[in-house]
Amino acid sequence: MIKEKLAEIEGRIYEACKRAGRDRKEVTLVAVSKTKPIEMIEEAMEAGIIDFGENKVQELTYKEAEIQAPLNWHLIGHLQRNKVKYIVDKVHLIHSVDSLRLAEQINLEAEKKNIICPILLEVNVAKEESKFGVYPEDTLELVTAISSLPHIKVRGLMTIAPFVENPEENRIHFRNLKKLNIDIKSKNIDNINMEILSMGMTGDFEIAIEEGATHVRVGTGIFGGR
Ligand SMILES: *Cc1c(COP(=O)(O)O)cnc(C)c1O
Repeated sequence: MIKEKLAEIEGRIYEACKRAGRDRKEVTLVAVSKTKPIEMIEEAMEAGIIDFGENKVQELTYKEAEIQAPLNWHLIGHLQRNKVKYIVDKVHLIHSVDSLRLAEQINLEAEKKNIICPILLEVNVAKEESKFGVYPEDTLELVTAISSLPHIKVRGLMTIAPFVENPEENRIHFRNLKKLNIDIKSKNIDNINMEILSMGMTGDFEIAIEEGATHVRVGTGIFGGR
């Protein structure tokens, strides 16, 4: 079941890359396994998936400990400062940093463990009241502030686009995030590396790929409804 769904998603990623004149290798599929049991993750692993996304710290650490395999765990949900210590050395990438205070906490815990933690800044592209994330116009300032923290490496931007009926409506937001990424890159800030654009979910990942996504986060399309 998961195998078939993955094959279908894979085909759609391939086609979207082709339409955009991009190489399939430029896009990482992050399988969003939140709320789903270990057995389903193992099924996806058997189909070759190594990147998994979780939105809760406790669930991520539980699954990370339970599955004895070197997977890339992505924290994609809102992160509270008091939980940073549990995951800083378990995650491959934190997608959801949206404040200097949170970044400082990650820096502190990463320093204790003598690692450098890769992060993305979450941008609230459509300025939705209900969403976390920094506003586009404040992003450069935040990146600049974080760039001085030695145990953090900013690797790009992430967004959760609005929930829409027609995914075409989100194209403008994906395009704007890409533009913002290029703009920040052009400033040549030390210690940052804006190579990752995490955007696109089950409903709109093809549009996101056409607009330059390097990471798409797909849950329902692989594991079914939640
Ligand atoms: C749940 C979630 C996803 C996956 O959503 P689907 O619509 O199920 O593909 C992607 N990104 C984030 C941040 C999420 O919380």
